[in-house]
Amino acid sequence: MKCLRVCLPLLSLLCFPASIATAQVSSPTVTARAHAIQDSAIVVDTHADTPQRFLDDNFDIGNTDPSDVGHISLEKVRAGNLGAEFFSIWVDPTTNQGHFAKHTFDLIDSVYEQAARHPDRMMMAFSVSDIERAHKEKKLAALMGIEGGHSIENDIRLLRDYYRLGVRYMTLTWSNTNEWGDSSGDIDDPKVQHHNGLTDFGKQVVLEMNRLGMIVDISHVADKTFWDAIATTKAPVIASHSSCRALVNAPRNMTDDMLRAVAKNGGVVDVNFFSGFDDQKYWDAAQEQKKESDAAVEEYLAKQRAEGKPVSYMASEHIQREWMAKIPRPPLSVLIDHIDHIAKVAGVDHVGLGSDFDGVMGATPAGMDSAADLPKITQGLLDRGYSADDIHKILGGNVLRVFRDVERVSREMQASR
Ligand SMILES: [Zn+2]
Repeated sequence: MKCLRVCLPLLSLLCFPASIATAQVSSPTVTARAHAIQDSAIVVDTHADTPQRFLDDNFDIGNTDPSDVGHISLEKVRAGNLGAEFFSIWVDPTTNQGHFAKHTFDLIDSVYEQAARHPDRMMMAFSVSDIERAHKEKKLAALMGIEGGHSIENDIRLLRDYYRLGVRYMTLTWSNTNEWGDSSGDIDDPKVQHHNGLTDFGKQVVLEMNRLGMIVDISHVADKTFWDAIATTKAPVIASHSSCRALVNAPRNMTDDMLRAVAKNGGVVDVNFFSGFDDQKYWDAAQEQKKESDAAVEEYLAKQRAEGKPVSYMASEHIQREWMAKIPRPPLSVLIDHIDHIAKVAGVDHVGLGSDFDGVMGATPAGMDSAADLPKITQGLLDRGYSADDIHKILGGNVLRVFRDVERVSREMQASR
């Protein structure tokens, strides 16, 4: 199951028992002041797995079906004043063995196709100035980030091709260790060949990303990979969808030392909305049922294969959803706790939003059911005494600063070549 290995791409159809679990905890009412702050911000989310839906389920982002359980649609984006989304280009390393690049291209294409279908409300964006222009035109700025360095198939030319197609960040690993970097997802698995962090080629990848102007994303990586990336990079990094290990002991969450190192690097940690990463009780419960839920997924996939049906992530996502729905949802305050913790440990200039929308099997805190609920975060921050200026930084200003710095470092490196 993807989620427990960590972030999972998307889900879909089938019933989402949100209402069952949501009713038990109330979310903050959003005041006029919070709405005013939200509506005057450029809100940037650095991770959503919606492209799995575009590609596998033929999902249209213009969908207005009220029963759709997805986190992202243009209607929901507008309701939450989400200005820019980094759509995740995630290639399942198991089912795409031997053709990672092909699937990467297909996912990239799926994002362009959505933008082409809705030119009045959505545009492809490749730079900070594109995001600002989209904001002025009241369109969703669609950006892309590759999730997992295996997509480059150990070929630096392919990395450059992805940049040329518009990819603006890459997560060095997903939950799988690749041939040049260790992942937190399998770091304890003795069957996997590890590298003690990044190999020399892995360090070259980081530097080439710096030169191109592609943001280095350290979500998912093993701790040593993180420290190697920090020591190598010439530009600020992001954690596109990571929460705090001091609050929830999950290997993919970041320690306080890591948070401080990102601050020193000038980067940003964008908090993941997955209940398992934000609430220890949820994490423990999910671990407890993992064996059983994994077996249920395996059984389903075996049946699909036997019948010649698809075995994509989407094919089994509804089963994972059913298992996640057995665990009570934590209150929205747990998500605010992670933002608050990073702001306290690393500083308010180093925290942002990395929802993992459409990638967590519906397992988000109560009241956070789609992008339309983003103003509740602003309310939660106001309730804890954050100023409008600081909230604007958290909602997107910090990520835009990092992106601008990455663009500047790229220009400098290319000029001095
Ligand atoms: Zn992920």
